[in-house]
Amino acid sequence: MAHAKFKRVILKLSGEALAGEKGFGIDSEMIASISRQIQEVVELGVEVAVVVGGGNIWRGLSGSERGMDRATADYMGMLATVMNSLALQDGLEHVGVPTRVQTSIEMRQVAEPYIRRRAMRHLEKGRVVIFSSGLGNPYFSTDTAAALRAAEIEADVILMAKNQVDGVYTADPKEDENAEKYESLTYLDLLNKGLGVMDSTASSLCMDNDIPLIVFNIKTEGNIRRVILGDTIGTIVRGNE
Ligand code: UDP
Repeated sequence: MAHAKFKRVILKLSGEALAGEKGFGIDSEMIASISRQIQEVVELGVEVAVVVGGGNIWRGLSGSERGMDRATADYMGMLATVMNSLALQDGLEHVGVPTRVQTSIEMRQVAEPYIRRRAMRHLEKGRVVIFSSGLGNPYFSTDTAAALRAAEIEADVILMAKNQVDGVYTADPKEDENAEKYESLTYLDLLNKGLGVMDSTASSLCMDNDIPLIVFNIKTEGNIRRVILGDTIGTIVRGNE
């Protein structure tokens, strides 16, 4: 039987990953593909928690750049992540994976409040836990939520799913044909080189808590399983060399 390299993982799904080709909104094909890929690794016995972004619907920063109050715009972004989370829960239930959505902003009719011990209990029982509404605070990102939740639930790794690139490059591979992919990096490299993988708050949190990150392409079906089995696709980011 295939042997999983990790026992408990955080999968970070940006809103962009859920938008598919259209670039915005929720693409049902992508939801179905991601759900099947998660199902494959749940069947390997891996505990999966997902942190879902919201940029396919709304980004706080874009709202504030157009004159909105930043905190209000950020709360809208957090609500967008809840919509994405419910779509993913629906997709996972369609393939028979029991799923719980937790939210950092209370909305009892829709999702459980975030309770760390309850989340860990769900994971132990083989349920996928979807963490929605980021950290519940404006001025943060869902990348930071992935870093903090990974530390809290003692995840072995953060799997950062992309759908435009298959790892971290020296430059944007769509704009620079000489861009080269890194196989591995440290968080200090990310910070020093200003590589736009995750924001600096998230990078620092991962670095300080020694949480590895694997950046990979989720568009190729089966890639979550490949990463979990230890195939060297994508780029790995570590605390130290
Ligand atoms: N957001 C926030 N606090 C959080 C997480 C998210 O204010 O803890 C808001 C922020 O406005 C952000 C939006 O929610 O722009 C969507 O999240 P993010 O940009 O991280 O989504 P992604 O880029 O992963 O799609």
